[in-house]
Amino acid sequence: MSYSPYFNPDLETMSRAELEALQLERLQKTVRHCMNAEFYRKKFAELGITPDDIKTLDDVRRLPFTTKDDLRENYPFGLACVPLRDCTRLHSSSGTTGNPTVVLHTQKDLDEWATAVARCLWMVGSRPDDVFQNSAGYGMFTAGLGFQYGAEKVGMLTVPAAAGNTLRQIKFIKDFGTSVLHAIPSYASRIYEVMKEQGVDPRRDTKLRVLCIGAEPHSEEQRQRIEQNLGVKAYNSYGISEMMGPGVAFECQEQNGLHIWEDYFIVEIIDPVTLEPVPDGELGELVITTINREAMPLLRYRTRDLTRFLPGECPCGRHHRRLARLQGRSDDMIILKGVNIFPIQIEKILLKFKELSTDYLITLETKDEGDVMTIEVELSQLFTDDYTQLKTLEREITRQLKDEILITPRLRLVTKGTLAVSDEKKAVRVKDLRKLF
Ligand code: ADP
Ligand code: ZN
Repeated sequence: MSYSPYFNPDLETMSRAELEALQLERLQKTVRHCMNAEFYRKKFAELGITPDDIKTLDDVRRLPFTTKDDLRENYPFGLACVPLRDCTRLHSSSGTTGNPTVVLHTQKDLDEWATAVARCLWMVGSRPDDVFQNSAGYGMFTAGLGFQYGAEKVGMLTVPAAAGNTLRQIKFIKDFGTSVLHAIPSYASRIYEVMKEQGVDPRRDTKLRVLCIGAEPHSEEQRQRIEQNLGVKAYNSYGISEMMGPGVAFECQEQNGLHIWEDYFIVEIIDPVTLEPVPDGELGELVITTINREAMPLLRYRTRDLTRFLPGECPCGRHHRRLARLQGRSDDMIILKGVNIFPIQIEKILLKFKELSTDYLITLETKDEGDVMTIEVELSQLFTDDYTQLKTLEREITRQLKDEILITPRLRLVTKGTLAVSDEKKAVRVKDLRKLF
């Protein structure tokens, strides 16, 4: 059977002009709807604006920002724009960086969310004949139910395996003929390691073909390593609970950045200090306004995630703009000896070395000589324990790290399995034990 390359052909391929007209209409409606929340009524009064002031898409910049702290201070239901009886589910963020925040959904919100995820899955080539397995935790973590309903909407046979129990995941992949898998990147690497231990060859013994990886920062090198190891195409999936969860932005088969669904969102990239838009194409903080939500629309939500717009048209025929691979959050940035470093820069170098596995840990400590960075990284199983060879390798990695991050870290090559990486949660890559004073 031959299918359209698009799940929602009209909405995915509409021209920029059509898309922007739709955005303005939805923005105006959303802004009026936001007046149901005391929180936004107050903010509008402070700024001296009313919903009628929003006449063009650029007027989005007149709207107030919303931050994670706003959600926390108005916990749990302070930003609801519909009565609770009209809501059918709530989710909360995984709380990686503090107290959880709550997001409410009506049934329509849930349907729209499932459609967004279905679009993404379809975009990377999943079709009703595929078997989809989800290794994300079900429950409050939005990647569980989020992918579940999206995959059902595509019409795939779904395997809600949920997080952990890697042996069982692998058994399901083999027995049920899983062809599309969702896994966070650190867990995709773990699945591969366990397959190797069990003598399972993913190319020979499984039907895996597509992998959706996201929920945490990962480098292009990490993606390629996962693709080679598992014999799949791996696509970057960006989600954030406050926007709904997975389905916000996703790579298409061109693998040249993540299309963000602009019929759901108005996207800005700002300088996190001046709060002004950055020049087109420059790195900044992603700010998103939801324009398709009932229960809890958010205006100019500051994601703290850093990215940039990619220029040009995508050959896939979708005109929704593309974001560069997410760098990590502004608060993931390490400042050491006055130098700004993102963990992903370190990962990019480490993963160039086939001798290393994908598990690493960056520790920052205060020593007599000042603040130091130690990077522990696991060797891949096959590598030698010859001392001279290890020392040569260590020197070369350190040299390349210094070129990338401008300071010389202490490097420790450790044996496989030393750094316990959780099966269930997003990987912890940085431990900051520095004394502040
Ligand atoms: P928490 O904020 O508690 O981690 P979420 O589950 O909502 O809760 O996580 C969303 C965050 O995860 C994003 O803001 C971003 O920092 C990170 N993230 C999600 N997808 C990606 C991705 N594809 N690449 C990099 N980071 C991602
Ligand atoms: Zn595309």
